[in-house]
Amino acid sequence: MEQLPNMRLTPQRQIILEELGKVTSHPTANEVYDMVRRRLPRIGLGTVYRNLELMADNGIILKLEVGGTQKRFDATVKPHYHIRCSSCGKVNDIEIAVQEQINGVAEKASNYKILGHHIEFSGICETCWKKNQETNIN
Ligand SMILES: [Zn+2]
Ligand SMILES: [Zn+2]
Repeated sequence: MEQLPNMRLTPQRQIILEELGKVTSHPTANEVYDMVRRRLPRIGLGTVYRNLELMADNGIILKLEVGGTQKRFDATVKPHYHIRCSSCGKVNDIEIAVQEQINGVAEKASNYKILGHHIEFSGICETCWKKNQETNIN
């Protein structure tokens, strides 16, 4: 992976970071592009995509390791867990303590030096769950 330790935050990257920081929806590159375009009308999707990848490689933002076909991005870089709706595909943060001891367990069970772990819960979000209930009643 490309590493640029003192990556410069160009004005473009600064704006991408600001826009990403405003939402908790873990947007895809396309969704970030739509938000950034309001402030930088001439920016291209490729540029947004490249900058997101580069900032993720440098630990400035997080690229989500979650299911689904599109990569999602997160301005919250501290370790935290995610939950994904199996019905509509949206991703939320889930506020539970990070289980640091799992790393030790995994290290004992493998020949790896463990660097970290990702947990993605799956479930049905409140909106989809309610929608489903209404459908069942009618
Ligand atoms: Zn849902
Ligand atoms: Zn998150």
